[in-house]
Amino acid sequence: VDSLSPKKRSEVMARVRSKNSRPEMLVRKLVFSLGYRYRLHDNRLPGCPDLVFRSRRKVIFVHGCFWHRHSRCALARMPKSRLDFWRPKLEGNKVRDRRNHRALTRGGWRVLTIWECQTSEPERLRKIIRRFLDAKR
Ligand SMILES: [Zn+2]
Repeated sequence: VDSLSPKKRSEVMARVRSKNSRPEMLVRKLVFSLGYRYRLHDNRLPGCPDLVFRSRRKVIFVHGCFWHRHSRCALARMPKSRLDFWRPKLEGNKVRDRRNHRALTRGGWRVLTIWECQTSEPERLRKIIRRFLDAKR
């Protein structure tokens, strides 16, 4: 049984979902330390990507594992209560993510999705980010 009341749980999840989350801040710091400059939360692009590299035509999303349904990830376990509430909501997020990703790649953007759980290994993540941003188109 969920230890939090539905109201409290919603508040917690709303915070998890918000921009400027801890995983996102870590990714920003990594990218900045690598010397790349970016624009934040560009809502002119599908899905309002977290980091936008206009001249490279690349974007990075930082996704919370629970909220965006990271597959086979322990952080993405379904809540034990109010499944009828959570399941459609969370599935909707996943569908929306896929749609945004498609729209971006169709528009000529390259997309990197970084999952919250990847931020526990910053050195590894740094390499992934560098490879993505350095890659020629
Ligand atoms: Zn994950």
